[in-house]
Order: sequence, then structure tokens, then C-alpha cells
Amino acid sequence: MEAIIVFIFGLIFGSFLNVVILRFDDWLSILKGRSQCPKCKTNLGWYDLVPLVSYITLRGKCRYCTKPISWQYPVVEFATAALLTSGYATILANPVLPLWQAWVEVALFALILGVILVIFFHDLYEMMIPEVLSYILVIAALAFSLIYYNDALGTLYAALTGFLPIALLVFAGGGKWMGEGDIKLSAGLALLVGWPSAVAYLAFSFIGGGLFGVAAIAAGRAKLKSAIPFAPFLILAAFVTFFYGPRIVGWYLGILGYGYY
Ligand SMILES: [Zn+2]
Repeated sequence: MEAIIVFIFGLIFGSFLNVVILRFDDWLSILKGRSQCPKCKTNLGWYDLVPLVSYITLRGKCRYCTKPISWQYPVVEFATAALLTSGYATILANPVLPLWQAWVEVALFALILGVILVIFFHDLYEMMIPEVLSYILVIAALAFSLIYYNDALGTLYAALTGFLPIALLVFAGGGKWMGEGDIKLSAGLALLVGWPSAVAYLAFSFIGGGLFGVAAIAAGRAKLKSAIPFAPFLILAAFVTFFYGPRIVGWYLGILGYGYY
């Protein structure tokens, strides 16, 4: 029952994030603006704005001008709800006492998730990460890491694992392959996944980004030097690691003969 409430809250939070993603560079309009169809400018009613449900019942088209509604809306709504519910389940699965502390962790996870999703789309569309968002991410992830993993030294190792290799790449490449925003993003994501999962996170993001880069070059879509938005790969790797990291690391150490932990 609780999980259903978290999921519904996630859908509503996701529809707020959609507005933030679209109007980030004009954030005052988020507070005062009414929701309009971006194509025909008709003011939308609440029944046009029910997360996921409106998109499905309208079959992806505006009620007034029948132009297609961006896929970003249902994807962000569903992704926010699914990731928030998974995060809630993962956090509550660990026996932490007192219970209010677990809810502080869930709230921090929600904040981190929101910031990460806005960064994901901002980097995808504009190939840059707003500085204010990466600072919020690092601070929230540091608080989450210290409370959730309760291991200050592990938190330090995780931060360094996320930070140093990306910083080296950025300075070695003169900012051509990756931007400075990626350094703070990576540190924040490594703090989220904790230690030693941060190592797996880093490996996944390089494998993912590398495979995509090779595929894009092979398909003639990219040259060796052209920048690809790297943040989405860091973010996908972090979520895979947060939810499956301990199992994957345990499986890998098992293969090497170190046994499961
Ligand atoms: Zn319209």
C-alpha cells in the first residue's frame, strides 16, 4: 500500500520535473505560468495534466490541436515513479532504526533523483550541465551517503572514485571529450552508489559510453573528436549500480574466487 502511494507521488513529482526540464532557463515561469500546449498555446485543464493517464487517454496527441505530445512527458513521469518506488523499496529493505531516518533517506533519494533527471535531459538537449544543479546533487548525495551507508571512510573513497578519473579525463582532453560539469556529476553519483560499488559504477559508465561512441562512429553519426553527451551514461550506470551493484560486485568477486559478500 505504502509503495503505491510512493509510486503515485513519483508520478506527480515526475510531472513537476517535466515542467522544470522544459523551463529551466526561465525558472520564474515555473512558479507563475499556467500549463499550455507548446504547439497551439491553449491553456490546459487539470484533466489534460494527469500524469501518464492523460497521455494514454489522449493517445499522445493534444486534445485541442491533435499535434503529438512529446514522449518526454510520459517517460519522465514513469521513470520518476518507478525509480522512486525502487529506491524506497531498496532503502526500506535495509534494517535501519529509527524508522524516521529511513524516510529522511527516501526524501534525500527523491531530491537526488529529481536533480539527476533534470541534468539527464539538460545534457541530452543542450550538452551542458547547469552548475547549480551539480552543486545541489553533490551536497544531497554527500548527506545521503553519510546517513545511508554510515561509513565516512567509504564515502570518501566513493567520492574520490567518482571524481578523480573523470577530472583527469576532462583536463587531459582539454574539455573536449567531457565537460567540467561531468566531474561534479560523477562525484555525486559515486556518493549515491557508495563504496565499493562506485568502482562498478565507473566501469559501467565507461563501457556504456565507449560502446555507444564506437557504435555512433561505425554508423557514421559521429567523428572520433565530436563530443557526445556523457552525463546520460554516468546516470544510467549509477542507477544500475545503485539497484544491482552489490549483487554484481558479489557475483564478480565470486568468479575470481573471493566468495560472495
Ligand atoms: Zn495543442
